Amino acid sequence: MLALDLVSTIRASRTGLTDTLADVAGMTAWGRAHADVFGLDATSFVADETLRAEVVELRQAVRALFARAVSPEPPSSADAHLLPPFAEALHLVNATAAAVPLVPRLDWPADGAPNLAIVPADPASESARVRAALAGSAIELLAGPSRERLRTCPAPRCVLYFVKDHARQEWCSVACGNRARAARHYRQHKAH
Ligand SMILES: [Zn+2]
Repeated sequence: MLALDLVSTIRASRTGLTDTLADVAGMTAWGRAHADVFGLDATSFVADETLRAEVVELRQAVRALFARAVSPEPPSSADAHLLPPFAEALHLVNATAAAVPLVPRLDWPADGAPNLAIVPADPASESARVRAALAGSAIELLAGPSRERLRTCPAPRCVLYFVKDHARQEWCSVACGNRARAARHYRQHKAH
């Protein structure tokens, strides 16, 4: 899920929080990794500071919506106190999606089967296209059935959101589950 990938660009590492989109090199690499969905060229796309800053602003808005979606459970602790107000975040996500209306296009290569591509109805800047795809993905996730399975990972130090694959999933990853169980075990033994 693209929106989940976007919010997951803020993650915990051994040394503290890392932000994949902290500089234009990181934004470029992340954009290239998602070139297909953004309609970018995976080899030639290069982010500039304006695009990076605009994507980060949108990410913080999406994180604010995720924080609301998981409440009353606590939001990701990475930046809970730095998020934009809910109404502002909602407006930004909707306005960003609306800025680039999308239409279906039939791609039919000479040597293959036809397939559906979703493309901007009118020419739009790279930044606007990237952000519209991200905002659209956030709208789809939050308005769809995945929202009820959206969780904040409760493992020590983890700051990720995840969508539960199955009812009993508690953590974002196996590694987080192992760490959380080890921490619980340690606490129980310390208490005795
Ligand atoms: Zn986790």
